[in-house]
Amino acid sequence: MAELFSTHVIKSASKGPNGLIIAGVHGDEYQPVLAVMKLIDQLQGSLIAGTVTLVPITNRNAYFSGARVGEDNLDLARTCPGNTEGTVTEKVATEISELIRKADFFIDMHTGGNLFDISPLSGYMLHQDSKVLEKQRAMATAFNLPIVWGTSPELEGRTLSVARDANVPAIYTEYRGGDYRTEGVDSLVSGCLNVLKYFGMLENQVPPDKPKYFVEDDKPGSGHLQVMHPAPEEGLFVATVNLGDLVTKGDKLGYLLRESGEKGAAILAQKSGLVFLKRAVPMAKAGDALAGILPIE
Ligand SMILES: [Zn+2]
Repeated sequence: MAELFSTHVIKSASKGPNGLIIAGVHGDEYQPVLAVMKLIDQLQGSLIAGTVTLVPITNRNAYFSGARVGEDNLDLARTCPGNTEGTVTEKVATEISELIRKADFFIDMHTGGNLFDISPLSGYMLHQDSKVLEKQRAMATAFNLPIVWGTSPELEGRTLSVARDANVPAIYTEYRGGDYRTEGVDSLVSGCLNVLKYFGMLENQVPPDKPKYFVEDDKPGSGHLQVMHPAPEEGLFVATVNLGDLVTKGDKLGYLLRESGEKGAAILAQKSGLVFLKRAVPMAKAGDALAGILPIE
């Protein structure tokens, strides 16, 4: 059997943590893929402790379709810990889950893909083990994106669910949408390098900036992006807010335009906070996520 994904292992001469950095869990999220490819290049010969395992394109089947999911239509981020006898996505889930369990820390980089535009953020599950949680907070802060976001830990099927169950400190990142931005790739590369510095694996440890927004939200499902502000009916989502806008509960975020040209349902903010997620493909079916709000004070 051809290998499901390629793995690059960079070793230092000294003992230290075994870090795992992956991209391409979804096939339409390119900046993280480019960032991991750059890291594979940059880390050669520069690690002073430990080992880093890098996977640039975890879900090759989806990547070569230019889509979030591959030919079996399974979302890899809902399929972990996988099934060795299953479809291609289930097999990938099994293999990546094994790597996660062996790691001492884990970074999984995403974007909004074709469907969403998401403010740059690093996030983690609010782990019940305070030592794991503290490390995750430190990693997310070290990554140095404007938003640090801890969310309720009960969601299943994610790479982070596997890390949670194995007590492996883990963060994920989001950075805008499915297109290519040089500054996005650069931010992700330096974010990963900062986390490696935090673990003492690279020279020149520098204290990170304080994130602009630090939010921990333990409401069940708080990190589930695909259910935020669901469309009450089918239509073209005409947003009246932008990423980064501050809104108050009840404010209008936009409306759905019906096929007839008449205005359909208005979409109202379900909470006060920062608009951090916006649907990028205007056409929405009933139930599709339209926007997300980060509950900042
Ligand atoms: Zn993703």
